[in-house]
Amino acid sequence: MEDLEDLYQSIILDHNKRPRNFGKLEPHTHHAEGLNPLCGDEIEVYLRIEDGRVAAVTFDGQGCAISRASASLMTLKLKGMTVSEAEKEIAKVQAWLTAPEEPETDLTAMGDLVALLGVRKFPARIKCATLGWHTFEAAVEGKEEISTEG
Ligand code: ZN
Repeated sequence: MEDLEDLYQSIILDHNKRPRNFGKLEPHTHHAEGLNPLCGDEIEVYLRIEDGRVAAVTFDGQGCAISRASASLMTLKLKGMTVSEAEKEIAKVQAWLTAPEEPETDLTAMGDLVALLGVRKFPARIKCATLGWHTFEAAVEGKEEISTEG
C-alpha cells in the first residue's frame, strides 16, 4: 500500500510541476472557468471540439497541486474522445472520487489517473480533484462559470 501511495504522490507532484496542455488554447470553441472557493482554486478550461470530438483541450489558471495535477491528467485523458465518451469518463472519475467505498477498478487500465484515488483519503480535497473535470463539462454545456459551492 505504501508503494502505491508513493506512486500517487509522485504522479500528482509531477503533473503539478509540469502541467500538460497548460495555457490558453487559440482558437477554441468552448471555454469555462471553474472556481473552488474552499481552496482558492481557479481553473479555466479551453476546448476545441470538431465533428463531435475533443480535438484539443487545455487548462489555465491557478490552484493547489491537486487541482492542477487533476486538470492536467484530465486533458490527457479526454483529448481525442468524442464528447459523449468524455462525459462518461467524467462521470466515472467523479464516482471514483466520491463513492463511499473505493470502487473496484482495473488499476492498470486507469494509467496515471490512479493518482486521483489517493485523494479519496482527504475528503476536503476531493473538490480540488473534481474541479477540472467539472469545468470541462461546464464548457461543453456552454456555461461560462461554475463553482463547487452551489
Ligand atoms: Zn485545491
